[in-house]
Amino acid sequence: MEIARLNACIDLPISDDEVVVDSMLGWLVRWLRMLGVKATYNPSFHDADLLSINHLLVTRDRELFRRRARLSLLLTTSMHVEWLAVLSLILGFPLALNMERSLCPVCGSRLVRVSRDAVANMVPRSVLLRHSEFWLCTGCGKVYWVGSHHIRIARELEIARDIQGALSTQCVDNNLLIIRE
Ligand SMILES: [Zn+2]
Repeated sequence: MEIARLNACIDLPISDDEVVVDSMLGWLVRWLRMLGVKATYNPSFHDADLLSINHLLVTRDRELFRRRARLSLLLTTSMHVEWLAVLSLILGFPLALNMERSLCPVCGSRLVRVSRDAVANMVPRSVLLRHSEFWLCTGCGKVYWVGSHHIRIARELEIARDIQGALSTQCVDNNLLIIRE
């Protein structure tokens, strides 16, 4: 089954290290940033802006995809974890969380590792007691730690890796179809 297509038959992964994500795909942009991919997202983007963007554009909008002359990825599946598998195939990033490489899911800025003392007044006391490693966003100031929700994240990534292993590509009419067996 086809789950995505690129509007060019090119070798994967592509060399671009930055993507622009259509405003319908907020979930994807947060995950890409968590995995260290520079992903831009703006709910107020109009189609005219999106048409002229130089980076890879990721969209679910067939009409926008059809009109784009520059490199674009159309996601034809609604399964979120398949989106991650496809993006990993196309951009070549590993489907594994590494906090040293992560960007802030909220604003996309770099994270820096900080001491427990540095965040003492910024996180709940229970979190402070249970964790020793913290990261601070250099953009919005949000604090991150490896908490219980990381179990769910690791599980999703494991599913995405399995899916990625079952993907193949096929060039049809100068579109690169991404097919899940
Ligand atoms: Zn931030």
